[in-house]
Amino acid sequence: MSAEINNSGGQPALIDPFGRHVSYLRVSVTDRCDFRCVYCMSENMTFLPKKNVLSLEELDRMCSAFVAKGVRKLRITGGEPLVRRGIMSLFHALGRHLKSGDLDELTLTTNGSQLPKYADELYAAGVRRINVSLDTIDPDKFHDITRWGSLEKVMAGLEAAEKAGLEIKINAVALQGFNDHEIPSMIEWAHGKGYDLTLIETMPLGEIEGDRTDQYLPLSQVRKDLEKNWSLTEIPHKTGGPARYVKVEETGGRLGFITPLTHNFCESCNRVRITCTGTLYMCLGQDDAADLLAPMRASEGDELLSQAIDEAIGRKPKGHDFIIDRDNSGPAVTRHMSVTGG
Ligand code: SAM
Ligand code: SF4
Repeated sequence: MSAEINNSGGQPALIDPFGRHVSYLRVSVTDRCDFRCVYCMSENMTFLPKKNVLSLEELDRMCSAFVAKGVRKLRITGGEPLVRRGIMSLFHALGRHLKSGDLDELTLTTNGSQLPKYADELYAAGVRRINVSLDTIDPDKFHDITRWGSLEKVMAGLEAAEKAGLEIKINAVALQGFNDHEIPSMIEWAHGKGYDLTLIETMPLGEIEGDRTDQYLPLSQVRKDLEKNWSLTEIPHKTGGPARYVKVEETGGRLGFITPLTHNFCESCNRVRITCTGTLYMCLGQDDAADLLAPMRASEGDELLSQAIDEAIGRKPKGHDFIIDRDNSGPAVTRHMSVTGG
């Protein structure tokens, strides 16, 4: 690793073996969820015993150790982060890094169901933009895809978020035979509301009931289809993530594409993920991981934790190799997205 220093902690920056600067941490605060989206979870998931999950104070300590090492963006995710009891205390605690200028952004990815309850508090804690996952705006289809969710509740959540002053990006997983025909109307709806919309290719993570080959819809195809009726202009807009954006001239809104399968974006990867049990995954699509829990609990100071983080970043892999086709319909890794934190 290089000894470049670019953080207030005065510690060497997190540079991986391929020269990529790790400045973005995604944190799964729970593996539990109030939905059971068909591409994400099986209906009967076994969740971790609560005693194995980091306390909110430990999550704060873990995140803060990364901030001291130059991480500038934190995304709280899950599972559904807003079903974790007491979660607002973590947002408020982490908000101190925004105030000190050590962090540029504190944000979250949510299914939106709990936003009526928490939107104002999120804003008060310093959150300014949120990602809300929504794959359809048809109430029946919404119920089918989430198994347990209610679109009405999510729509109320979006309204509450808007009222609270939060900027909203909608994330939709593109699914063959499910929402492919609905994508144009979702663009019109999202842009009409002033939301960005990002489409995501389904990734082979964890066992689910269905066959992913049937669900997989390459976004290269979606884009071609959209271009028959819409004018898409490439724009340099960046949010620190892997999405590539276009402006839809007809709506004036932004449309993002996250294409882990048709266009691998690993060369510019700047992120790592921690699970709610304190395991650090250096790549979403690889099994190698580092335990940060033991070094964190081994002492009151953060020296061992800091060393464990350096050692793990020193072996961040070059990238994933997701494939979904008839010969490769099984998961690339056995853990679900809800474990690693999407
Ligand atoms: N529960 C929150 C939500 O749904 O936004 C946060 C966690 S969820 C795992 C994060 C994101 O991962 C969601 O946008 C979801 O659609 C996406 N996701 C889950 N499983 C996926 C898969 N196999 N491939 C692609 N995206 C997936
Ligand atoms: Fe829950 Fe999010 Fe997974 Fe849906 S995608 S089951 S909302 S964690």
